[in-house]
Amino acid sequence: MKKSSLAEDLNRELLAQCGCSIAGAKPFELHNALTKCLMNRIAPAWAESKKIYQEQKRAYYFSAEFLVGRLIFNNLLALGMTEEVRQVLRENGSDLNSLEEIEDAALGNGGLGRLAACFLDSAATLGYPLDGYGIRYRYGLFRQGLKDGFQTETADDWTRFGDPWSIRKDRDAADVDFGDFSVRAVPYDMPVIGYGGRRINTLRLWQSEPVEGFDFSKFNDQDYDGAVEGKNRAEDLSRVLYPNDSTDEGKLLRIRQQYFFCSASVQDLLRRFVERYGEDFTRLPEFTAIQLNDTHPTSAVCELVRILCEEHGMDFEPAFQTAQKTFRYTNHTVMAEALETWDLELYEKAVPRVCAVLRRIDEYQKKSFLAAGGAAAKNLKACGVIRDGAAHMANLAIYGSCAVNGVAELHTEILKNSVLKEWNEISPGLIRNETNGITQRRWLALCNPELSALVTRLLGTKDWVTDLNLLSRLERFADDPAVLEQFAAVKREKKRQLSDYILKKESVSIPDDFLFDIQVKRLHEYKRQFLNALSILDLYFGIKDGSLKSFTPTAFLFGAKAAPGYARAKGIIKLINEIARLVDSDPAVRDLIRVVFVQNYNVSYAEKLVCAADLSEQISTAGTEASGTGNMKFMLNGTPTLGTYDGANIEIVRESGFENNYIFGARVEELDRIRESYDPKALLKNNPNAKRALDALTDGTLDDGGCGIFKELSDSLLEGASWHRPDQYFLLYDFDSYREARLRANSDYLDQAAFARKEFMNLVHSGKFSSDRTVTGYAEEIWQVQKT
Ligand SMILES: *Cc1c(COP(=O)(O)O)cnc(C)c1O
Repeated sequence: MKKSSLAEDLNRELLAQCGCSIAGAKPFELHNALTKCLMNRIAPAWAESKKIYQEQKRAYYFSAEFLVGRLIFNNLLALGMTEEVRQVLRENGSDLNSLEEIEDAALGNGGLGRLAACFLDSAATLGYPLDGYGIRYRYGLFRQGLKDGFQTETADDWTRFGDPWSIRKDRDAADVDFGDFSVRAVPYDMPVIGYGGRRINTLRLWQSEPVEGFDFSKFNDQDYDGAVEGKNRAEDLSRVLYPNDSTDEGKLLRIRQQYFFCSASVQDLLRRFVERYGEDFTRLPEFTAIQLNDTHPTSAVCELVRILCEEHGMDFEPAFQTAQKTFRYTNHTVMAEALETWDLELYEKAVPRVCAVLRRIDEYQKKSFLAAGGAAAKNLKACGVIRDGAAHMANLAIYGSCAVNGVAELHTEILKNSVLKEWNEISPGLIRNETNGITQRRWLALCNPELSALVTRLLGTKDWVTDLNLLSRLERFADDPAVLEQFAAVKREKKRQLSDYILKKESVSIPDDFLFDIQVKRLHEYKRQFLNALSILDLYFGIKDGSLKSFTPTAFLFGAKAAPGYARAKGIIKLINEIARLVDSDPAVRDLIRVVFVQNYNVSYAEKLVCAADLSEQISTAGTEASGTGNMKFMLNGTPTLGTYDGANIEIVRESGFENNYIFGARVEELDRIRESYDPKALLKNNPNAKRALDALTDGTLDDGGCGIFKELSDSLLEGASWHRPDQYFLLYDFDSYREARLRANSDYLDQAAFARKEFMNLVHSGKFSSDRTVTGYAEEIWQVQKT
């Protein structure tokens, strides 16, 4: 029988679903129909992969976030169908590019969620049996707009036009019991299509629904934010990502949300284990490895112990030891405020059954640490799973695991020597490093087909798509003027494309011969967008007063979402927009500086930004950015880093050379040395440039519309606040060296050929930063799972 053609399948699907043909379909209709056709095609390979994974040791990635972005183009690339589909659509009066309108699945906040997505992509491509477990949020990360320069937030109703990449699996639904009520967790499976389509892994996301026939009216509502109905109460659990936790109600919801997906996932994988291997749960670690992506999923440790004890009659000790051998934990931050702890009373109220297990683990920990003596006994308090009356999630994650890792070399050293030093004393070797990575499928092959084509042509093979180390073979072209010119031409083209896109989206024009200096990432004080903004003001004043004589025209681009409750971060967005206005309305500088804050930065926007940059801003205070992955995306697309000696920047310059990047600012050791005596006010007295820039926030140059946030930002540097010292992130301390590095790059850019070489050398040496390398490390060293 002849296989039906894609065009026939598509038209049939469209006719059935929308009563139209390819030519008449709206983008979302086309997307739904095309996805349906693709899902039908991959079904056999998906089923086959599931079968193979069921026969061997497998790993599960538990994560509160999966920032998968837009799937259609990625999946067409993986299936090698992009050109076929493009042609079919063209021949039938439509256009593949119309699917650019399809929105991202933004089920995450930033780097941590994107990392999870890159890992799944790499595992599927390499054939490692790794599946993801998370939450199917009703609303993803908010959609950001700008009004009068201030951030606006609207709900991200991402399934509004359907969710064709997910398959609801009612037969695998599980009930999750919170003591005084239960909910039903219903899984939605998304395929994770490995490059080449040979292996298809699964991302299983749980949606919370009322338990059938469950009468919520019996229970009072006082634990809840407002008087919600029973249905809403259940649905609340998977309604939003990171509910505001400034109130106790919000905290309860967060704890329950975490437990919700952990319980459902643990039940699910145990059911699968029992089907295949029976009830000998001591063998669970032989066949299962669970990776906790940060501490959000840590209640899974308690849940596994609870189920083994309560439902399968195991004793506590073997049950806990089984858990320890099953779990692994990745730490993503050294920031004290981000290390999760929950007041024990609140925790008890939110998840009483989990809390009971936590107390039992606490008892056991005390007993065994004291019996062990030595470092364990000495450090019991610091390492306690219950510490100072609070559930300490990092300690629980570590104690409940057999491996702990940091995400870049510096970060891992800081964990060992400071944040987790007591654990390191007890078990040296427990904490290891696995430097983060990014998938070159999305972050080069997909987002930069022009550079991909050049790389393929120079290498004579496309194999770099699954073996990024091949890029090092390009080094021999680094002094070939013809190659560098082709490379530079690609960069110009990508800048032109971005400039067109920004004109369309933001109604701002950027000349594409400007230097594109880009900082895109979540908005946070430690990432120091504020330093970038102050430095732009400084350049502006320098140009105005004639002290800055030669300056290459530069577009300073920003993209960032600020957490809705984070006033300072929102203030920094307003500040950047006011600077943009100041510069733009000044004919004396307009031709030298542009400042643009792009709206709603997300994965799809990132795909356009990272390949059009001349400089990648990675300027976090040394010791604060665990790794960063944005830095790797820029590097892969041939962009020098203007950055501090922090996170993975250190490894990036080690690979590509200091001479091809712009590294500035105090290092960790220096900051540790001066922290106690640091006096930003005194520093400002001797730094007229910095003073002039900072004064602009409060002397009437810039206007925050009377809300007082600019004064608050200025005070954060000069006065501090009850919860932090003045200028805790050392903006003023690094101000001059940032200026120097920035101006050096600015002047280097004039020599286009020399600058293209620096850019090219970044591309050449980015092989290490493939998430294929990272996932192979996890698979071999941490999970002990085999390629299939
Ligand atoms: C890669 C990525 C991040 C992480 O960026 P960092 O610079 O490492 O903080 C955040 N958000 C999106 C949308 C990304 O694609």
